This record gives sequence, C-alpha cells and structure tokens, in this order.
Amino acid sequence: MKKILESLGIADVNAGGFSGGWMGGGKVQTVVSPINGEALASVTNVTPLEFDAILAKCHQAFASWKLVPAPKRGEVVKAIGDELRRNKAALAELVTLEMGKTLREGLGEVQEMIDICDFAVGLSRQLYGLTMPSERRMHRLQEQWHPLGVVGVITAFNFPVAVWSWNTAIALVCGDTVLWKPSSKTPLTAIACTKIAEKVLRDFGYDPAICSLAIGKGSDIGDLINTDPRVALLSYTGSVPGGRHVGRLVQERFGKHILELGGNGAVIVSEKGDLDIAVQSVYFGAIGTSGQRCTSTRRVIVHHSIHDTFLDRLTALYARTPIGDPRKDEILMGPLVDTAAVETMLAAIQTVKDQGGRIVCGGERLPAAGGCYVTPCIASVPKDLPMLQEETFAPVLYVLPYGPIEEAIALQNGVPQGLSSAIITNDHRESELFLSAAGSDCGIANVNTGTSGAEIGGAFGGEKETGGGRESGSDAWKAYMRRQTSAINFSGQVELAQGITLEL
Ligand code: NAD
Repeated sequence: MKKILESLGIADVNAGGFSGGWMGGGKVQTVVSPINGEALASVTNVTPLEFDAILAKCHQAFASWKLVPAPKRGEVVKAIGDELRRNKAALAELVTLEMGKTLREGLGEVQEMIDICDFAVGLSRQLYGLTMPSERRMHRLQEQWHPLGVVGVITAFNFPVAVWSWNTAIALVCGDTVLWKPSSKTPLTAIACTKIAEKVLRDFGYDPAICSLAIGKGSDIGDLINTDPRVALLSYTGSVPGGRHVGRLVQERFGKHILELGGNGAVIVSEKGDLDIAVQSVYFGAIGTSGQRCTSTRRVIVHHSIHDTFLDRLTALYARTPIGDPRKDEILMGPLVDTAAVETMLAAIQTVKDQGGRIVCGGERLPAAGGCYVTPCIASVPKDLPMLQEETFAPVLYVLPYGPIEEAIALQNGVPQGLSSAIITNDHRESELFLSAAGSDCGIANVNTGTSGAEIGGAFGGEKETGGGRESGSDAWKAYMRRQTSAINFSGQVELAQGITLEL
C-alpha cells in the first residue's frame, strides 16, 4: 500500500490545496479505507483565506490559458492521458483503497479518464461554430465559441476520479481553468490526479494553477464556490438536496451550472426478452460498486408471466455473490463507503418492511473486521411503495410486476429522478416505444443492456430531479464555452435587420 501511495506522490500528511503551490492550513483529516478501517494518510483542508488565494490564481491563469490555441491545449490533455496510462494500475488501486469499489471497477474508472482525454484531444480541433445565411445583402452571420472562465468541479465520492476527468479534459480544451473540490471521503485520489496534471502543465511550461484543487467541507468551501462570481461554471455532482442548494446559489448570481444529481434506475424486463441478459444486466446494475452508482439499478419491473422465474434466478445469483476485499480478483462486491452508508441502508430496509415490502434476500451487515460490508438486498414490493420514489445509495433492489408495456413505462417514469433506464426485450415495437416520446423520460435509455456503465462518447446526465445537466461526450462541451453570435457587414452600406429603414 505504501508503495502505491508513494508512486502517486501521496505522503503521510498531504496539503489539500493547490494553485501552483501546495497549501493547507485547515483541519487535519485522516483518510480511512472502507476495506478494513486502516488509515491511509492524512490531508490538511484549506482555510477560507487559502481558498480565496487558490481561486484568485486559477482565475488569473485563465487570462493566458484562454489565448492558447485549442489544438495546443489538446496536446496538454493528450499528455495528461498518457500520464494516466502510465499510472493506471496505481491510481485504480488508490480508488479501490479509498472508496472501496472493486479493483476491476477501479481500473475501468481510470480507463474512462484515459478515454475522455482521447475524446477531448480530437475535440480540440472540432469546437465548431456555425455560419448562417444572413437576411441582409453582403452580410455574414456566424456563431463562435469562446472559453468561459474558471470551471468549479464539485464531485461525489462514488466516481472519485472519473467525474473530475470528464469535466477537466473538456474544460481544458475549451480554454477554461478548473478548480476541483472533491468529496471529503476521497481526497487522496484528488491529490494524486492534481499532481499528475501539475507535472504535465509544468513540463509544457504552462501555469499549473490551470488545474487547481481545494479540499474542504462542502458546507464551507463548497458554499464559497457556489457564491463566488469568479466561478463562471459550476459542475456539481452529488445528491438531489445538495444540487437543489447549489443550483439556487449559482442561479442567484447568474452563474452557469451543470447539475448531475441522484438517479433511481429501472430496468423493464419483458417476457419477450432474453432472460439471461436480463438477469445478468440487473445483477451487475444492482450490485456493481455495491449499489453506489448514480446509474445503479434500483428497480426491476418484470412482466408478471416471468416474474417468479426471474426472481428465483436473480436470488440464486445474489446468494453466490463474492463479497469482501475489493482488491481480490474473485470479489464482485466490496464494502460500502463508510459506516454511515451501512446505517442508511439498514434503515431503508426497515422502512421498506414497514411500508409493506417483503425482503427476498440479503440486507445484513457482515461482521468483517473494520470493513463496511453488507449483503446485497432484493425486496419484492407493491407498485405504490413510497420508498420506490427514493434513491437509497446502497445495494437494495426493488422488484415489482407489470402487465401491459404501457404500465411498465408509467412505473419506470413514475419517480422524481430521471437519469438511467433500460428495457430487455427482443420485440422491436416495445423497444421503439420505450425510446419514443411516449417512452422513458430519462437522460439514458438503453435496450438489452443495463442502466449502469455509460460510455464517454455520449452526453451523460438526466432529467427531472437528476438536474438536467450533461457532461462528457457528444456536444456536452458547449456548456463549457460561451457562444457569440456575430453579424458582419461587408456591403459598405447600413442595412438594418427585419427591413427596418432609417431616414437620416
Ligand atoms: P453528496 O451530495 O453528499 O456530496 C457531493 C459533493 O457535494 C461533495 O463533494 C460534497 O462535499 C459537496 N457538498 C456538500 N455540501 C455542499 C455545499 N453546500 N455546496 C457545495 N458542495 C457541497 O453526494 P455523495 O454522497 O458524495 O454522492 C452520492 C450522490 O451523488 C448520489 O445521490 C448519486 O446519485 C449522486 N451522483 C450523481 C451522478 C450523476 O452524474 N448524476 C454521479 C455520481 C453521483
């Protein structure tokens, strides 16, 4: 463990702030692994005064970074991707140690960082504006995209490095600088990533404050980010209540925001689908990352004719789930992130029982020394169970039957969140209905694959209480730039739009 930490520049005590130089005069926090309760290292949080200095430097760095040609900025992102390739194994292991996801998922998360860097490098030559025909003679109408400013990136614990990279790789090629406030549950991975970016920026001779870091509590450092007009765009990933608070504060100062909030993923399993695909997709979607993905499968809506068979097969898989140290190859489910998460899960299961749900299997705390291990839970529930409306960030899966496909879609849509959804069917009409305007109301709607495991090529995000933000691939980059529309007159005369004449 020591060797991994050292290879990523993590010492016993680490400064939690960076903006060209490292600082951290605030509270000291010991980071404990959810795998076994072992202390990994300590971090000193930044003080409000240090935060101000960090943001000032990050803001100052924007003045020169925005003038670097976008393809040159892409070269920096390419080098960050190469550095991530070199450090993939170590960084993945640190993700696992700090957050508890399995090593194979940790490797997948770092791969996602590499992929978004590759995507952003290509994007650096494709930040296209449009040219439109002007209604006026000898005029040209065009749109350009310009860098926006400092992008504040506030991240959740469950994807401690990928979300930073989705935002940072895109923001950097767009000419923005980045100020990252990671979850206080995962500060070490944030320090490791910032060190990687620092090295690359220094190697290129650019101001390392382009990738700044401020570790501290959400309620103090987070609120300073929310309210500071120097943060042009705030990309916030976290819970719905957090996003509601952040969104209100950013809106009050007319800042821009990208909100990536809670999900409540559902899979519709049709009697016309492949049962093997259904069982495996739901299984991975529900127990992957110990049910701590925003896209985790929380609800399965199964056609009544196959409900019992499906449930039996899924329950058999659940019973065989290898739970334990996520660094081991054979383990599929590691610990929850901390003891508070275990308590939240157990309380939710009690509420499900109180509301009339039946626990089919799992939902127990495992007595592993120092770790936060539980058994994944399946509950068979009525369609109107109030808990179906809530995201419990743990491996608790609700199974409910449906009749007509329209009912399944209504159940799938009948929650406040709108992130990820899926249907397992071989019936073309059903899948097309699911993808149509009459179908899923989510930002992600998959066919014959589960709710989690999004690829970076598409825009990622969800509707309703999930916040409406989009990040990562496709044209999500547009949120990181400001659009400028220009009319250019080369006629030598004055001509007004809409045919208005001016008699002088
Ligand atoms: P959380 O809301 O507890 O914390 C998220 C981040 O917000 C942390 O960095 C935290 O320090 C910060 N924060 C807290 N108070 C703040 C404030 N006043 N101002 C600014 N920032 C503040 O979430 P979590 O437990 O870390 O993560 C789980 C949640 O995140 C789940 O709801 C999950 O669905 C969601 N999530 C969503 C996505 C997505 O892309 N939609 C991705 C990952 C996680």
